[in-house]
Amino acid sequence: MSRYIPLSIPNFEGNEKKYVLDAVEQGWVSTGGAYITKLERMLADYLHTEEAAACQSGTSGIHLALIECGVLPGDMVLVPTLTFIAAVNPVRYQFAEPVFLDCDKSLCVDPVKLRQFCEQECTLKENRLVHNLTQKTVKALIVVHVFGNFADMEAIMEIAETYHIKVIEDATESLGSRYEKGRFAGKYAGAIGDFGVFSFNGNKIITTGGGGAVTAKNAETVRHIRYLSTQAKDDPHFYIHDEVGYNYRMTNLQAALGVAQMEKLEEFIERKHKNYELYRELFSDFAYGKLLGFREDTYSNQWFYALELNGKLKFPLRNLIERLETFGVQTRAVWGLIHRQKPYQNCLAYEMERAPYYSGCILNLPCSTQITEEEIRYAAQTIQREIESWRITDD
Ligand SMILES: *Cc1c(COP(=O)(O)O)cnc(C)c1O
Repeated sequence: MSRYIPLSIPNFEGNEKKYVLDAVEQGWVSTGGAYITKLERMLADYLHTEEAAACQSGTSGIHLALIECGVLPGDMVLVPTLTFIAAVNPVRYQFAEPVFLDCDKSLCVDPVKLRQFCEQECTLKENRLVHNLTQKTVKALIVVHVFGNFADMEAIMEIAETYHIKVIEDATESLGSRYEKGRFAGKYAGAIGDFGVFSFNGNKIITTGGGGAVTAKNAETVRHIRYLSTQAKDDPHFYIHDEVGYNYRMTNLQAALGVAQMEKLEEFIERKHKNYELYRELFSDFAYGKLLGFREDTYSNQWFYALELNGKLKFPLRNLIERLETFGVQTRAVWGLIHRQKPYQNCLAYEMERAPYYSGCILNLPCSTQITEEEIRYAAQTIQREIESWRITDD
């Protein structure tokens, strides 16, 4: 039996080959070309923002947003601990200090603890939030919408406004998610905070191979980000540079793939929804775990599906994942907490409770857009069977 159901692979059923070949034939393969501007326009229109700047990766996008926030060496930046490490590393590129926050039941930053940290551990001095113990300035907060599920942006934006901290939305996993009700009705993930960053890595809802984009409240800021991403070139012929720039611009080859993928985005989201519903049905009576939902009053892109295994399990998650692999079902655990990783062990981690719990009991299920109904049934059945049989032999 050679069946293999991957966790998340790209889907190239549209104009991908046509546009990439076109870019090659035109000779526009590097950081200039019509597909880059086209992709930027498509993204901005889709998100209802004025401008978007395409870049090399989500990581470089977060770095550019931090620079634009004015994050300097010694500043503090609030970050989640339960996320992919790429959301945090750029803080260190600026020689700033990450402060790790716990999550709520959505797996995203907990606004209650965020407020508590600002209120009890910091003091507002002339519109500057200062951390009492270290006297460092808290400049920004990075919010990750985990698996396409919105963080509680209503609460978070109110806190950020009260305490004068800039909000960078790491929307790398949530292109297409939007609020449907309340203060942010109609607003897309990435278009609510001061900055929004997207990733088009191979496993994301759309891909450019590797790539990303940044948007911001202020269109002038996005243009400045684009300028920084192209070595801060001030003159097209004479190599005049007024600032330190970066080689972070997306290439036209990547953007060609991106334009074709953007044409399919809505269809991809619909398939994600349909597949999620089927999984939910299949796991509805399962005694040892339940599928996590998505925030009320929002429309999620439902990029990744997370099964929360309950406390009755008595074997390591690693064994389960390896065993499922032998049956052709690729799954994965949620990330190791970042404040426990070597480079960040000395950083401040504020009142961790839920993140350590979730970090040990989440299993991500196969979620590629081209997965068939039959494959979903097989994956769900295999996962349930293995967990159940393991329980019996284990205790
Ligand atoms: C994918 C991802 C990133 C980084 O994106 P790259 O394009 O791979 O650099 C950052 N944060 C989160 C939460 C991600 O999932």
